[in-house]
Amino acid sequence: MQEDALTSRIGNTPLLRLKRLWPEGSRVSVFGKAEWFNPGGSVKDRPAWRIVRDALDRGVLGKGQVLVDASSGNTGIAFAMLGAALGFGVRIYLPASASPERKRILKAYGAETVLTDPLEGSDGAIRAVRALMETEGAPGGKRWCYADQYSNPMNPRAHYETTAEEIWKQTGGKITHFVSGLGTSGTFCGTARRLKELNPAIERISFQPDGPMHGLEGMKHMASALVPAIYDPALATRDLACATEDAYALCRRAAREEGLLLGVSAGAALAVALRVAGELEQGVVVAVLPDGADRYLSEDFWC
Ligand code: PMP
Repeated sequence: MQEDALTSRIGNTPLLRLKRLWPEGSRVSVFGKAEWFNPGGSVKDRPAWRIVRDALDRGVLGKGQVLVDASSGNTGIAFAMLGAALGFGVRIYLPASASPERKRILKAYGAETVLTDPLEGSDGAIRAVRALMETEGAPGGKRWCYADQYSNPMNPRAHYETTAEEIWKQTGGKITHFVSGLGTSGTFCGTARRLKELNPAIERISFQPDGPMHGLEGMKHMASALVPAIYDPALATRDLACATEDAYALCRRAAREEGLLLGVSAGAALAVALRVAGELEQGVVVAVLPDGADRYLSEDFWC
């Protein structure tokens, strides 16, 4: 399928070197992959576009059909943007606790939203869409195209094909440590799988929220959650935990010391990246920063 002006802007995001949160000139450098530069404002444009392209190629997403999925927000926003641009309907199941900004962006793109029990988090949204597919899905129901980002191999594939290659090129092959949080795990697994092929010595560090109740929107505490089918923990050389408070603290510091307005999981990624960098004599640490602050400005932790 021909890429258009919108989809051609997905990916190729900048790799930003920290200047003040980490001292310049030391033998260790810390970079953030600035995923809010994607047209839908987050890293999830990559897998959403890969999933949609695959569905169009296989003829399972056509006229009159509605793409449906569970999302904590960003994948839903990416699907909503693509649906508006390419002319298919979108229905997103998301926890009622998703930020008001996310819900408004979904509506602005014209997507239908179904809010699920906030106490069940993203798992509640997954169960709701699975229930829909049991009653109205295949084989008879041709209306829905279930994207299923938690199980769809196109999700990690997007990162295997794009995110990893970009990081490799942008660091001139010098990356030594890769840091990424786990939600669907698509970003971590796809990028880590390709980086491992390019250089098996690269440390591949995943991280999760430090408990089942957390404020790291978009991320999963795997031990207490429905584990995504695409998750392969063996790809990680280390798996760390991040407290919500540490993520908030890094969001405040990144805004004031680097001029970077980060989303909460991006703050978490920097907190983990700085922890990793602090253990090194030399190296090139790269963290994926999934989105910017615009989706979290109504939260109180900024002040
Ligand atoms: N942070 C945010 C803000 C997200 O929206 C997501 C996607 N759920 C993630 C992190 C995790 O990314 P992934 O689903 O690729 O693991």
